[in-house]
Amino acid sequence: MKTANQSFDISDMDMISINPGQKLQEILKEAFPFDAGESQSFVGRFDRALKAEGEFALYVYESSINHMVRRLITGAKFVRRQCKNEGREADEGYLVNQIRKFVNSNVVLPKNRTELVVIFLLASINLKRRETKGVAEHLRRNSGGRPIETCYICGKSLDFHSKDQHDSVEVEHIWPNTFGGQSREFNYKLACHACNQVKKDAIDAADFHYEHICVDANKEDNSFNNQMKREFKMALWAKCQYSCNKCKAPASEVGELCLCRKEPTDSWHFFNIDAYCQRHATE
Ligand SMILES: [Zn+2]
Ligand SMILES: [Zn+2]
Repeated sequence: MKTANQSFDISDMDMISINPGQKLQEILKEAFPFDAGESQSFVGRFDRALKAEGEFALYVYESSINHMVRRLITGAKFVRRQCKNEGREADEGYLVNQIRKFVNSNVVLPKNRTELVVIFLLASINLKRRETKGVAEHLRRNSGGRPIETCYICGKSLDFHSKDQHDSVEVEHIWPNTFGGQSREFNYKLACHACNQVKKDAIDAADFHYEHICVDANKEDNSFNNQMKREFKMALWAKCQYSCNKCKAPASEVGELCLCRKEPTDSWHFFNIDAYCQRHATE
């Protein structure tokens, strides 16, 4: 039973349109801000060596933050499992204490952040994954404007009748449920089965192994499409928020985004490539 003087009840998290895992990422970014100017760090030196103007350092930073989010959430789940093994799964106070202990002994956080981290960790692991039956049809019809019938990642037409085919519609958690994303409408998008299979529980572009993405072929070469596989494309689309880098039109409206290099003489690696709609594609 809720009392009037309870200012914040984590069981209410389910009622608020935020993803606790995303909130955790925000808290960690505030606690450990990005410092592109840190010239003495190895990342700063690499960034300058690669003439990346901070972009390389930023991706190393973003993926380190995601690494921390994952470790904390997985660690909290591990703690919960131990509580269960001890037969104390119903004792919320005990679980909170154990998670607090885990945080204190595994990460060095600024003092005033620990409690916030504990709150959002608990909220992240308490989220229920809801059944998405009927949700795709609901989202298709209730999209504001005209019905959404395309994948938000690759822009291809979705099949609302088949299952497990390349183009079968699936309800995708924008922020992965496993890492504190809610199974609610604000965190859903329609994606095709093929894209959903590749995206898995990736949080953002920094999660897609940007460091792998180097292609030695050119667009007109036969091997280009083999080398530029879907997970590479997805990383590049994610880097541009699944929208044209110039006009910001989303792939769900303008179709598959084209990958173009910043300069025609650039090689095809992650930091040289952006995604554009047909109208703004330069190659
Ligand atoms: Zn797709
Ligand atoms: Zn455009």
